[in-house]
Amino acid sequence: MNIILFGAPGAGKGTQSALLVERRTMKHISTGDIFRSHIKQQTELGRSAKVYMDQGKLVPDSIVVGMVEDVLKGLGSQNFILDGFPRTVPQAEALEGMLKKNGLEIGKALFLEVPMDDLMGRLTGRRVCSGCGATYHIASKPTQRAGVCDLCGSEVIQRADDKEDVIRTRLEAYETSTAPLKAYFAAQGKFSAVGGTGQTEDVYRRLVGQM
Ligand code: ADP
Ligand code: ZN
Repeated sequence: MNIILFGAPGAGKGTQSALLVERRTMKHISTGDIFRSHIKQQTELGRSAKVYMDQGKLVPDSIVVGMVEDVLKGLGSQNFILDGFPRTVPQAEALEGMLKKNGLEIGKALFLEVPMDDLMGRLTGRRVCSGCGATYHIASKPTQRAGVCDLCGSEVIQRADDKEDVIRTRLEAYETSTAPLKAYFAAQGKFSAVGGTGQTEDVYRRLVGQM
């Protein structure tokens, strides 16, 4: 089954996607990761996206939609997870057209539910590996050696947009633009909410229970 995984910044989409990739051999399509990779490679797309990302604002739909379309076109038969897309109702509408054109279908839109009060702590404490992208948290999932990734040995850093003032803007963008997708997917009979608090493994069990 192909799924959309959505929720507020810090809800754990990346963490749960990594488990699905490993255990269900799904393909992870994260628009945030794709943008960060473009920024690293200093492409034109990366330069355009960075201006918005650094401020915690959404990248304009016109940029995101074309980028996702390219990914979906090149997709084989592997089941996929859309993480971070769609993030607005117009993106969800554009996605419907793209799926139809490419003979693809979404089975479920799974919403990772985490109380607003938890999100700031999750995001300010988050650290990511600059090499392999593994995620850590200074309190709940620290690296074994300070600043060094357990998996690949690269430097572990804080994402530029995980600073408190930028996080506030991201949470606002979520409330305004992304939260309305709950009703959108519910109207299609595809919406399920999954409790996103507690142990990672417990969240994972709840998540696959809805698939
Ligand atoms: P998070 O979900 O934790 O905010 P992401 O890595 O998914 O992190 O996204 C980081 C940033 O990338 C967003 O704040 C936004 O600027 C940009 N971005 C990612 N996906 C989209 C999208 N579908 N539409 C617009 N902007 C996006
Ligand atoms: Zn690493």
